[in-house]
Amino acid sequence: MIDRLTCLLCPLGCELEADIEAPGPDARMPAGEHPAEDGVDGGGETLIVDGRRLWIKGHRCPEGIDFAVEEILRPKRNLAASVPLAGTADRMVSVRLSDRVPREMMFPILAEIASLRPVPPVRRGEVLIRNVCGAGVDVIATRTMGDERPA
Ligand code: SF4
Repeated sequence: MIDRLTCLLCPLGCELEADIEAPGPDARMPAGEHPAEDGVDGGGETLIVDGRRLWIKGHRCPEGIDFAVEEILRPKRNLAASVPLAGTADRMVSVRLSDRVPREMMFPILAEIASLRPVPPVRRGEVLIRNVCGAGVDVIATRTMGDERPA
């Protein structure tokens, strides 16, 4: 099945088409033999990654291939959430990750974030959990809270 992706690496936003096949004897077929196109690659490129064959079309530069490979085989996402300040129920601090993580890490990381109760004051950019779940990224505050001083 052909996936349609938009490359997000530059403002051109190329519309990509990509197809992947499971490991097997066909995965060793030479580049350019995309079966959905009756042996013609339809102007795209075929490559072998981790023993799987990918066919990619629509990229205007090689970075588009890297983008499609990562998005299809190793998709990553960032996430944003809000947590209450310690000792409060409704004074929320917004947080996000310092970088994207593999999608399968999202739920464990969300569970860690859900138990977070930062002690005020919290400053924008402050690291609230370093290397969360061993994922190599930090949870950081995106808003300053609890630093209100009397006028
Ligand atoms: S494929 Fe290349 S030119 Fe197209 S959006 Fe991605 S980075 Fe930009």
